[in-house]
Amino acid sequence: MKEPALVIAIVFTSVPIIIFIVIYVFVVIPREMAEEQERKRIEAEKREKLRLVTEERKRIEAQERRLELERRKREAYEHNMQALSLTCRRCGKIAPPIPGTGNRYRCGGCGNQFAGAAHRM
Ligand SMILES: [Zn+2]
Repeated sequence: MKEPALVIAIVFTSVPIIIFIVIYVFVVIPREMAEEQERKRIEAEKREKLRLVTEERKRIEAQERRLELERRKREAYEHNMQALSLTCRRCGKIAPPIPGTGNRYRCGGCGNQFAGAAHRM
């Protein structure tokens, strides 16, 4: 009578422990592993997005610098064209230098072309 009671007691106390271990090993651990994988995947995605955004921003900044440089060059060019312009002897309007000609000018009013002071446009 004493021994079966002991066996029953052992079985009743060990069964919940075994159930707990089985649940832990086959349910809790896999779920935690899956959650960890999902977290890692999301973090990798975030890093990739951040990398793309950073690259895009750098590209845009480089483009803005290029455009600013071009704008300054154009302004300097237009400034030089204005500063080197002569007055047309035929109609009296402004005649900017013709680039690459060394000393020739074309009137903006009548289109008259003529030679004048040497220029480097
Ligand atoms: Zn003219």
